[in-house]
Amino acid sequence: MLSHQHERTPQARNTKIVATLGPASSDARTLERMFAAGVDVVRLNFSHGNADDHLQRAELVREACRRSGRTVGIMADLQGPKIRIGRFRDGRVTLEAGATFVLDADCDLGGEHRVGLDYKELPSDVRAGDVLLLDDGRIVFDVLQVAGAQIHCRVRHGGVLSNSKGINRLGGGLTAPALTAKDMEDIRTVATMRADYLAVSFPKQGKDMALARELLRAAGGHALLIAKIERAEAVESSTFGEILAASDGIMVARGDLAVEVGDASVPALQKRMIRIAREQNRLAITATQMMESMIASPVPTRAEVSDVANAVLDGTDAVMLSAETASGKYPVETVEAMSRVCIEAEKSSPVSLDREFLDRVFTRVDQSIAMAALFTAYHLHVKAIAALTQSGSTALWMSRLNCGVPIYALTSETSTRYRASLFRGVFPFTVTYQGHDRDLLLEEAEDVLVRHGAVSNGDLIVVSFGEPIGASGGTNTMKIVKVGERRRA
Ligand code: PGA
Ligand code: MN
Repeated sequence: MLSHQHERTPQARNTKIVATLGPASSDARTLERMFAAGVDVVRLNFSHGNADDHLQRAELVREACRRSGRTVGIMADLQGPKIRIGRFRDGRVTLEAGATFVLDADCDLGGEHRVGLDYKELPSDVRAGDVLLLDDGRIVFDVLQVAGAQIHCRVRHGGVLSNSKGINRLGGGLTAPALTAKDMEDIRTVATMRADYLAVSFPKQGKDMALARELLRAAGGHALLIAKIERAEAVESSTFGEILAASDGIMVARGDLAVEVGDASVPALQKRMIRIAREQNRLAITATQMMESMIASPVPTRAEVSDVANAVLDGTDAVMLSAETASGKYPVETVEAMSRVCIEAEKSSPVSLDREFLDRVFTRVDQSIAMAALFTAYHLHVKAIAALTQSGSTALWMSRLNCGVPIYALTSETSTRYRASLFRGVFPFTVTYQGHDRDLLLEEAEDVLVRHGAVSNGDLIVVSFGEPIGASGGTNTMKIVKVGERRRA
């Protein structure tokens, strides 16, 4: 029997938390504590580690889900054509401003004066006078000269540089193919581990996402696709629209994006991209440096608290943690702090169904029911919406508008339950009924909600489902139910 002791009150937080796993968070005990603190989706970063590491971590996560009764999704994040330095003998070096340092395509294991490159062509893409930004711009090099496979640099801003950190050129424009050979190989691993989400790094056009989807499906994977918006080209409005149309969601990947477009442009882009994503029935994740100082500190800065809260107010589905949980000292505390900030921000978030509702364009029967259910839930002040769903689409559509009522995605499909873990305001649970009797199905739906403390006898709820029951086909019915009434009758 599953234990529900770690299950948080379902209504407690609508915004989801994505946490990257790494050395600081890959043991069963820490994972369990992070789950209890409220992680909804874990991110496996394919820029680090090998296929076996990721398969093992995925297994650990599924095991923790079975043990805790929580539904925590898995997002695999491809490395993409990000240009990265190689590894250091001691894992890291400290660079002083004014020193010289060599990026050397032929170097195997780096040290104090040089380090290797994963993209061997980089020396032919840069020239003297270029400015290179490492580790999302924390470390800055001026290129002095390029000699064969070696890029000789002077350190402008120093600091600690560790294994596999990224390199960008100021202004962007470093060329590399959209899906690398490694990405294509990794997509097979992603299919094998049955990941729920696949994040594609540095897409430049819709076609990049279409290719990733094709490769994933060919490998037998069912993950939803997230386009990481981190290239100057990708935010241009027609390109952004194309990428969005070819994806299930986007990540505002502020680390690389800030380097490409300038940091000051990012806040407005974040707001605009989240808004458009929601209008187009797509998901949005806000990522990078959200709780950065908590890598080393048990409390966030005021600025970080405001950043997380503002992303919540922008309407993001999820806020993401990177190094904070992958390699930081306080992975559990960071999740707790982030959760606390989200909950508080949501209380001030306007419920704006009135204004946005009339602008929605929909022509499908299932979408019409989703909108009707929202409208009803909003005006009748019901306690919950229960969307009985196979694919999860109904719950997704409902969650694109904030009607202030929690949406429960009730499904017998395990993969649907896991993918809904990322939808803002949606709480996925299992229903098991497989027959054709509508009353028995609705009874189980009520029971599940009561069991999880979402509703109690006498509460009004809106239920959406597809009739005839048990036949495949979309949602076409909405019913307003008083919990417990049928059994009393
Ligand atoms: P990364 O992507 O962490 O894989 O670089 C996120 C970002 O660029 O912000
Ligand atoms: Mn990135």
